[in-house]
Amino acid sequence: MPVNSSLRAELTLEADVLVIGGGPAGAWAALTAAREGARVVLVDKGYCGTSGVAATAGVGHWAVPPDETLRGEAMALRTRLGGFITDPVWQARVLDETWRRLEELGRAGYPTSRDDAGGSVLRIGQAPHYMRFMRGLVQRAGVSILDHSPAFELLADPEGTVAGARGIQRQKRRTWEVRAGAVVVATGGCTWKSKSLGGDVNTGDGQLFAAEVGARLSGMEFSSFFGIVPKGTSMDKNGYFGFATFTRDDGSPIEGQLFGSRAPLLKASLDGGVYAQFDRAPEHLRPVMRAAMPNFFMVMDKIGADPFARRFAIDFVLEGTVRGTGGLRVVDSECWTGVPGLFAAGDTASREVIVGGATGAGAPNAAWAVSSGTWAGRAAARHGQLVRGRRADLVGTGGAGIRPAHGAAGAKGAWRELLRAVQAETHSIEINVFRTDERLRRSLAALDGLWRGARTSIGGELDEQLRVRECAAMIAMARWSYASALVRTETRAMHTREDYPATDEAQQHRIVSGGLDDVWATVDAAEGPCERLAS
Ligand SMILES: Cc1cc2nc3c(=O)[nH]c(=O)nc-3n(C[C@H](O)[C@H](O)[C@H](O)COP(=O)(O)OP(=O)(O)OC[C@H]3O[C@@H](n4cnc5c(N)ncnc54)[C@H](O)[C@@H]3O)c2cc1C
Repeated sequence: MPVNSSLRAELTLEADVLVIGGGPAGAWAALTAAREGARVVLVDKGYCGTSGVAATAGVGHWAVPPDETLRGEAMALRTRLGGFITDPVWQARVLDETWRRLEELGRAGYPTSRDDAGGSVLRIGQAPHYMRFMRGLVQRAGVSILDHSPAFELLADPEGTVAGARGIQRQKRRTWEVRAGAVVVATGGCTWKSKSLGGDVNTGDGQLFAAEVGARLSGMEFSSFFGIVPKGTSMDKNGYFGFATFTRDDGSPIEGQLFGSRAPLLKASLDGGVYAQFDRAPEHLRPVMRAAMPNFFMVMDKIGADPFARRFAIDFVLEGTVRGTGGLRVVDSECWTGVPGLFAAGDTASREVIVGGATGAGAPNAAWAVSSGTWAGRAAARHGQLVRGRRADLVGTGGAGIRPAHGAAGAKGAWRELLRAVQAETHSIEINVFRTDERLRRSLAALDGLWRGARTSIGGELDEQLRVRECAAMIAMARWSYASALVRTETRAMHTREDYPATDEAQQHRIVSGGLDDVWATVDAAEGPCERLAS
C-alpha cells in the first residue's frame, strides 16, 4: 500500500518519464517525450481522453496566426486584463509553440472543416474529439497508459531527485509504482470539488506532491474564479455570457465590469437572484451558437429555457485555479519546478506569465496546456534518458493523508468532514471573492486546523485513502491561496480585497508561496517588480 513504503507495490514499471495526469497538458507532455525517444508511462485518475476539465468542457485555443500586429494585440489585451504582471517573452513563446503544435495536429490527421473563405481550418473546440484524438496519438507513440490510476505521492532518491511515483489502480484494486528518470506533474488545477464541468478530479494533487519535495507556487491569490451556471445545473460553459444582459430579481440591470472580474455579479448574488438573457446575440448568429456549443443548449432545453427569448436564473460555481491562474512556479523555460527531476505543465503550473491575474479561459489556458506540456515533456525526456539505468533506493515523499504525522490514524470516513469543512472555506463567495484581512485570517486559522486533521488521517480502503489524500491537497491549496491573498494588499485582476479596493502600482509583482505545516507567502524577490511589462 502506498501508505507504507516497506510494502511492495503490486504493479511495478520502469520508465524514463512518468507523466501524472492525462488532460491536454499531460497528453502533449507524454507525446513529446515519447517522440524524443523516451520510454513513457502516463497515469490518470480517470480515463485519459475523457477525464479532466478539457475533455468535458470544450476548448478554444489561443491560436493567433504568426502576424506581428495580431499577436501584439493579443498579448497587450492579456497583459491589461491580467493586471500588468505578465511576461511578453513567455506570451510570445506560447503563441509560437501552440501554433506550431496545432498545425502538427492537422498533419497528423485531425479532421478539418472549411472556413467562410473556403480555407481549411482545424476545429478543436469540440474537446471530446480533441482529447480522444490525443489519446490515440499518445498510444501510437508508444506511451503506456494506466487509466483509473491516481498517483498518491512522488518517489525520490537519497539526494532528493524525483524518480517516480506511487498510486493505486482503482478498478484492479491494487497498488502501482513507476520508477522513472523524470516526472511531469499535469494533474490540473483545483476546483475544490465544486462540481464544475469535469473538475472534480482536479483537487490540487500535483501541487501538493511537488510542495512535499520543496517546490514553490506562484499567483495563488488568483484562485477565486467562479463560473456561471444556469441555476440548478453544473453547465459552466461561459462563452456566450458576453452576449448577456444581467438583471436582479426586480428586473433592474446589474452594472459594472460584468464579464471580466465578475465582482458586480457575484456581489448581486449575495443580495438575491441574478438572471441572464442572451439578448445581445445577433439574430443570424443564434443557430450557429447552438450548433457550436451543443452541451450548453442541451441543458437549456432540458430545463425548458430559451436563453435568447427570456431571462433565466443563474448561479455560480467555483472553478478555482482551473479558470484562475495560480500554481507551481516554473523556474525556467522548460517548465522545471526547481526540484531535480520534476517538471510541471498545464493548470498545475502558474499561468501568470501569460495571463497575469485574470482568467485565461476561452483560449490562453488551452494554449498553455499545449505549450507547457510540450516543453516539460521534452525536458523530462532529456533528463530521464540521461539518468537511465542509475539505480537508487527510493522513498515515498507523501505526508498528509497517507502517512499519519503523530502515529494516530483518523477515523474511517473522516474525509467527508474534511471535505465539507474545506469547501465551507473555499466555496463561500463572501470569503473567497470579497476578501478582507479579517476574513482571510479567520479562514486560514480554520484551514490550519483542517491541515492538522489531514496530517493524522489515513483512510483504510484504497478508495478511502484517495479521498483523504485529495482532501489534504485541497486544504493545502486553500492555505497557499489565502496566505498569498493576505500578502497582496490591493485589488488586481480577479483578486478582490474589500479592505484595499484600489490597485497599488507598488504591488506590480508576483507573490510566491509554499510550505506544508508552516505555510508562507511573500513577494517574488527573484522576479522583482514587473514594471518593464507596464504598457
Ligand atoms: C467549463 C470550462 C470551460 C473551459 N473552456 C476553455 C476554453 O474554451 N479555452 C481555454 O483555453 N480554456 C478553457 N478552460 C480551461 C481549460 O479547460 C484548462 O485550462 C485545461 O483543461 C487544462 O488542462 P490540464 O491538462 O492542465 O488539466 P485537465 O484537463 O484538468 O487534466 C488533468 C488530468 O489530471 C488527472 N489527475 C488529477 N489528479 C491526478 C492524480 N493524483 N493522479 C493521476 N491523474 C490525476 C485528471 O484525471 C485529469 O485527467 C475551461 C475550463 C472550464 C472549467
